[in-house]
Amino acid sequence: MGENSERQWCISDFEIGKPLGKGKFGRVYVARERESKFVVALKVISKEQLEKYKIHHQLRREMEIQFSLKHPNVLRLYGWFHDSENVFLILEYAHNGELYKELSRKGHFSEQQAATYILSLTKALAYCHDKHVIHRDIKPENLLLDHEGRLKIADFGWSVQSRSKRHTMCGTLDYLAPEMVENKAHDYAVDNWTLGILCYEFLYGAPPFEADSQVDTFKRIMKVDLSFPSTPYVSSEAKHLISRLLVKDSSRRLSLQRIMEHPWIIKNANPIGVCS
Ligand code: ATP
Ligand code: MG
Repeated sequence: MGENSERQWCISDFEIGKPLGKGKFGRVYVARERESKFVVALKVISKEQLEKYKIHHQLRREMEIQFSLKHPNVLRLYGWFHDSENVFLILEYAHNGELYKELSRKGHFSEQQAATYILSLTKALAYCHDKHVIHRDIKPENLLLDHEGRLKIADFGWSVQSRSKRHTMCGTLDYLAPEMVENKAHDYAVDNWTLGILCYEFLYGAPPFEADSQVDTFKRIMKVDLSFPSTPYVSSEAKHLISRLLVKDSSRRLSLQRIMEHPWIIKNANPIGVCS
């Protein structure tokens, strides 16, 4: 599949299997390429929806960004095609589904599991930042797990324009960095902030600035009102890493390179990216 990315695909090249989920703009099915038997996820977006919500440009951008990224922790987009009614995205299949579901099921992750995911994410983001891509929309719903439990970042490019989307759609504020809440110019360090939020959420089961209203979450982010509950037990090294990422001044946040070298990561993360 990967080798043949220039090829023109069409729907009859695939056997369609069970539905995997439904997003805002499309449905996703597991599918198998007839010749190679290669299993993929096929995302079907109706042209009518693209028309109605005027999202062609956004979709094209998402596709071009994701297509250019080839990293073990970034969900591959192998190709796309369309017929008269739909656009089809041929995506890497993430057999274990959303990381979010795994987190809800477990409540919170062990330090080993959390560190393994944070290291995988850090490596993926370092790769993306090298290619001048800022994800800006990293949250558990956009993280998928493959058959071995390896983390895959999904929903690329969407995020590049997600600032206006978030403001108009009243999405959750929990993952927004202060400079984004304030709507100031922001840079790559936005993703580093989000790593701090996720690290906290993985270990405690809820994001750090959660509040009853958006206004209160906003206030807590702006104050960096960070506290660590006494349960579950979390090591001081983990808290140190979180405190070095949730720093208001974006230039003072720990760099991706320093995250990879942090004692908590060295001690707990599986560099292969799979959790036992
Ligand atoms: P949107 O991407 O439109 O913002 P979304 O993320 O909720 O919204 P989709 O990306 O369309 O929706 O995916 C719908 C669901 O299908 C996901 O929540 C996920 O559970 C499942 N899914 C999507 N892509 C894959 C994949 N590559 N492998 C396995 N499951 C997937
Ligand atoms: Mg999605």
